Amino acid sequence: MTTLEVPTDGLFGLANLPYGVYSVSGGQPRVATRYGDYVVDLAVLLDDDTFDSPSINRFMAQGRQRWVDVREQIASLVTGDILAAAVHTLDEVTLHLPIEVADYVDFYASQYHAANLGKLFRPDNPEPLLPNWKHLPVSYHGRSSSIVVSGTGIVRPNGQRKGPMDPVPVFGPSTRLDIEAELGFVVGTESAMAEPIPVEEAENHIFGAVLFNDWSARDIQAWEYVPLGPHLGKSFASTISPWVVPLLALQAARIPTPTQNPEPLPYLRMDEPWGLDIDVAVEWNGQVVSRPPYAAMYWSPAQMLAHLTVNGAPTSVGDLFASGTISGPRKEQRGAFIELTWGGAEPVNVAGERRIFLEDGDEVVLTATAPGADGTRIGFGEARGRILSAT
Ligand code: CA
Repeated sequence: MTTLEVPTDGLFGLANLPYGVYSVSGGQPRVATRYGDYVVDLAVLLDDDTFDSPSINRFMAQGRQRWVDVREQIASLVTGDILAAAVHTLDEVTLHLPIEVADYVDFYASQYHAANLGKLFRPDNPEPLLPNWKHLPVSYHGRSSSIVVSGTGIVRPNGQRKGPMDPVPVFGPSTRLDIEAELGFVVGTESAMAEPIPVEEAENHIFGAVLFNDWSARDIQAWEYVPLGPHLGKSFASTISPWVVPLLALQAARIPTPTQNPEPLPYLRMDEPWGLDIDVAVEWNGQVVSRPPYAAMYWSPAQMLAHLTVNGAPTSVGDLFASGTISGPRKEQRGAFIELTWGGAEPVNVAGERRIFLEDGDEVVLTATAPGADGTRIGFGEARGRILSAT
């Protein structure tokens, strides 16, 4: 038996207890929690086969009451004597994608991001927000098989583009490769076709949140997106953090969303639409270049899920919906480089170099923290990716 010494003021204390999937020395991937810098095997800790699994999907599917009960059991057991076989350290494990991603949708829930992109993509239009934006959480359907775990190399995509000076489209590696700093929300319990999830029931379905980097090829996107929206400019890769922070750990981070005016239609209406007070940081080659505040997001995750299902679309265990780029009102709070550099007009100083978009070898790391229970702060770990040259 062993006992774990974990500082009470760390980002992975009892207030957090996220879920992930690990393996050691080529063994089978299994579900774990992170407590301090320890990775604790949950099948062993809880003596429960649910967690002898290569993803957290089986556990999530058991529903919200199990999420509550297991969280309490973990908190009580990790502070006592536990089997040494349950315990690994972060540096001796490999972390894997924690969920089998079923379907994937990406929203566009930051008013600041949507307005900035409107000005950059449609400079001649006096109204940067399109007419639907404040009436529904705008989204597109993405490619779940392109979602990868932190640390996976990102190969620069090839594609078709046509710049303002190009007489005809050209093909080749993207020259405007960008990031989008977002949160991803994991759907833990399914819903049937023709049974929309009401806003007030969203918490029975949303299991937790991860960091999400929606790598974006702006040149491919700008040429392809009219009239059906983003596709190949996005679908080559998105990076998530390996630890799913339960919504149950984010109770202290709940805050009202910004005022929603005009009032949304009844199916999106909430007495108190809740957002999350999560501070995100974007590191570019080791230097923090932006600090996007999730608190500024206009639409609640509950509204996103209600909208996603209002037409009768079913959801599956492991569905992932991302928030869209998190941007705040200030320049240093913009969560995409196209906004931060204003389309290239205002390069950023990265370690002494003037930079606009990503170059081969660049590395981007997203991190985030949020208020936890009892005055603590909790962490999301990181979503890290390095750009590899096009094939
Ligand atoms: Ca996005």
